[in-house]
Amino acid sequence: MTTPASEEKTEVGSYFISNYPPFSFWKKEWIDRAEAALDRPPKPGTPLGLYIHIPFCRKRCKFCYFRVYTDKNSQEVERYVRALANEVDLYKGRPALVSRPLSFAYFGGGTPSFLSEKQLLSLVERLRSSVSFDGAEEVTFECEPGTLTARKLQVIREIGVTRLSLGVENFSDSILEEGGRAHRSEEVFRAYAWAREVGFEQVNIDLIAGMVGETWDNWRECVRKTIDLAPDSVTIYQLELPWNAIYARSLGGINAADWKTKRDWVDHAFSELEAVGYHVSSAYTVVRDSSTRFVYRDAVWRGADMLGTGVASFSHLGGVHYQNLDGFEEYAAALETGRLPLGRAMEPSPRELLIRELVLQLKLGRLDGSYFFQKFGLDVLQEFKPAFESLEREGHAQLAPGSVRLTRQGLLRVDALIPLFFEPQHRGARYT
Ligand code: SF4
Repeated sequence: MTTPASEEKTEVGSYFISNYPPFSFWKKEWIDRAEAALDRPPKPGTPLGLYIHIPFCRKRCKFCYFRVYTDKNSQEVERYVRALANEVDLYKGRPALVSRPLSFAYFGGGTPSFLSEKQLLSLVERLRSSVSFDGAEEVTFECEPGTLTARKLQVIREIGVTRLSLGVENFSDSILEEGGRAHRSEEVFRAYAWAREVGFEQVNIDLIAGMVGETWDNWRECVRKTIDLAPDSVTIYQLELPWNAIYARSLGGINAADWKTKRDWVDHAFSELEAVGYHVSSAYTVVRDSSTRFVYRDAVWRGADMLGTGVASFSHLGGVHYQNLDGFEEYAAALETGRLPLGRAMEPSPRELLIRELVLQLKLGRLDGSYFFQKFGLDVLQEFKPAFESLEREGHAQLAPGSVRLTRQGLLRVDALIPLFFEPQHRGARYT
């Protein structure tokens, strides 16, 4: 498992693993499984979340692989907002969802803060006629700093957002420009100060380690500026070059740091943040207060039901995975004719569901065997003993009776390690 230096180059392809089995195994022919899951009553005690995808951005970042649009006018945005509200409304009477309160909601993108205050209020008012966020433990809202104003942040707070996530990515204007980001550092500081004035329960800052042009000096500066801002949590992703990103087309001309350097940068950030009192809460996140929770992440990684609404969004309901249609027109048109915009689905086997939770929870840096025994009736440490022992031999994990802990080096490369636990047919599969 030791990675030779030649394999450390940042090649085009996906690295980050957000689900299992890989999306390339989901099929259009299986959307009846999603319909069947919606018609079954829920498993008692399963939390329910709502993801609301806002697929608009001011510019397309060169590393972005999400379904986003930079060219939609206000009528098209309005059409989309109407479609989203219709989608949530279509769900409300289904047996799997009836009378279930939301445990969490997540406005993601794209750029949810791309919406104007008016569009946002109108979206939330329409959503509220079908679903209530009032009892939700956490409502997250992703923002691009340059789209924010003090007034918009107040509106975001008023609609019930508890956790604001600012997509800072880097503090160097030339690196932001090179990456195709729409915002600049000045807008970060302005937006952050407004967010604090408005008073969210949690403000998160997102950084990316390894943006094109990154250097050790600049990265140290980014970490220092992050510490100065004192956010409640910091999320750090290592830059990847997915197939559908703009960068993937200019392969050869990109001066991207290799994986070892990116891990070193995240390690530096984690260590500096720990030195001022932060705690590492997953491979990507540190929190200032160890009791700070990230409800969305923890619920999804423990198999919660989640309705993903919006174009190309991913859902998991009643043990079934499905994804919405991934074209703006087909998504909106389906809802305009009163149909759910289901695009492809997969019903994982019980073993695949177990592997899904195992690999996602490994990203927390620790696994509790008793959780899996209670939920799946299996001793995962025994069942996957060769894989865990191989992680231990390579210095990536420490095994103890009933639990596993990843070392820092294991945690920093967790996405490269978790395919070890995949079923043979899923190893090496593309995540598209
Ligand atoms: S702001 Fe986010 S979603 Fe939008 S293009 Fe950039 S990376 Fe993609």
